Amino acid sequence: MNDENKSIHEFDFELICEYFSNLERQGPGSPEVTIKALSFIENINDKSLIADIGCGSGGQTMVLAQHALGNITGIDLFPIFIDLFNRNVEKRNLQDRVKGIVESMDNLPFRAEELDLMWSEGAIYNIGFERGLNEWRKFLKTGGYIAVSEVSWFTEERAAEIGEFWMDAYPEIDTIPNKVAQMQKAGYIPVASFILPENCWTEHFYAPQVNAQKVFLEKNAGNNAAVEFIANQRHETQLYYKYKEYYGYVFYIGKKI
Ligand code: SAH
Repeated sequence: MNDENKSIHEFDFELICEYFSNLERQGPGSPEVTIKALSFIENINDKSLIADIGCGSGGQTMVLAQHALGNITGIDLFPIFIDLFNRNVEKRNLQDRVKGIVESMDNLPFRAEELDLMWSEGAIYNIGFERGLNEWRKFLKTGGYIAVSEVSWFTEERAAEIGEFWMDAYPEIDTIPNKVAQMQKAGYIPVASFILPENCWTEHFYAPQVNAQKVFLEKNAGNNAAVEFIANQRHETQLYYKYKEYYGYVFYIGKKI
């Protein structure tokens, strides 16, 4: 395997965190998409308990907080993101109802049937889509909602190059109907699913990385792992532009029954 084809999980977490902490978002998405996903969710009020899992520095959480009343707990494994998250909270004066906590998504600090809404943008893949849907369900009240975005295939068939890339990076990638079926099997009514528009990748995810890559390479000059990591990010970006008809991010919204 040459360096360009390494998948992200083969790189040092510290490097990855340093790189992504210079970006407002750590995954594809946009404020419009967060608001659209929220539009399918009913019964959220100032008493609601909401969790945003794999929140990163909180790009989407701040949007969520501005459009959903209630108490929001952001969870992320990495303290660097939670520090940035809590700083973002204070900047917006949301500290009375939004708080970031360092914890792993496979060890969530909630009580059974406590939550009204579980949110997770571009992060459930860390535990796996099916496992996350199944394990997180117990924290939701009956009638509570889950809203997650996840990489998915748009077609039954695809070019070998992109098929192989994703089989290595995330073998659980699947088609939209299969993901919806998994959601239903895990005990949710599949309320909605929609494809994130391309600008969630181009404008909101890849464009800000161009400058972040420059800064990161200057800062880590002489560090081979850093150079390799950026080459890998650039390769992933090129693949996106080449194969974006075949895959992208999809929001899946479910209601616990
Ligand atoms: N939701 C954010 C970040 C997505 S990137 C956004 O859309 O911008 C995925 C996030 O999952 C990263 O912040 C990463 O630190 C976090 N993560 C990875 N493994 C995790 C785990 N086991 N538990 C909690 N968070 C995790």
